[in-house]
Amino acid sequence: MSFKSSEIFPGVFHIEDALGVCMTLLVGEDRALLVDAGYGVEDVRGFVETLTERPVTLLLTHAHHDHALGARWFSGALLSAGDIPLIPRYTGRQQRERVLSQARFRGLQPAGDFMADSLPPLFPLGREPVDLGGLTAVPLPCPGHTPGSAAVYVPERRLLLTGDAWNPCTWLFFPEALPVGEALGNLRRLLELPFDTVLCPHSFTPHPRAKLRQFLDGLTEDALRAAPPVDIPPYEKIDTRRAVLPDGQELIFDGGKAGL
Ligand SMILES: [Zn+2]
Repeated sequence: MSFKSSEIFPGVFHIEDALGVCMTLLVGEDRALLVDAGYGVEDVRGFVETLTERPVTLLLTHAHHDHALGARWFSGALLSAGDIPLIPRYTGRQQRERVLSQARFRGLQPAGDFMADSLPPLFPLGREPVDLGGLTAVPLPCPGHTPGSAAVYVPERRLLLTGDAWNPCTWLFFPEALPVGEALGNLRRLLELPFDTVLCPHSFTPHPRAKLRQFLDGLTEDALRAAPPVDIPPYEKIDTRRAVLPDGQELIFDGGKAGL
């Protein structure tokens, strides 16, 4: 298996799968929680079991294929009710074919029947903190990237897991994405929490809190208005625009939903 992992804090493993998306494993004294499951090309559950012997629950931050398809290795998963209806579209045949060709391009032969395996039952993610034993995972709704996107806060490690609500390059243009102002407002609310470190799915290295603040502070109305159009295949029908911040962070957003 070609996963790689790094223990960022005691009991906090950031894991990258063979196609380059990350997930985070939180291991408490009693149980473990895997936040996101990657593309699912390889046996993510088997890899997680090399890191912990505790029973593992799976939580998906949102329904996109690069986070949710790995759920096929589990017997169930938590996902916000707002994103459950998106699962057939994002984990269906068309998305799987695309993932399969990416995998083959990299010389990977997916384990199991990648095209046919169904996802396990999905249970609506609530807001109740999940007590793992000495480590707590607090689900936080953060609609924007998708209507049901969730972040996870880990108070004992002053750690925030943003899902795709924020990456150093954040995508906010999918058809079901919220208006830009609303999405950024939801993200800004996370700054009310006392965290120091952020882990996100499209970066293997952790980021300091200040980087998320720079992102939000840099996306002024002027910065959004000045953002030039950019082509993001296969989303040519969307008015995608790219705002680049002085520190190199980017927001790709739908100009039609920016209220400019
Ligand atoms: Zn996503």
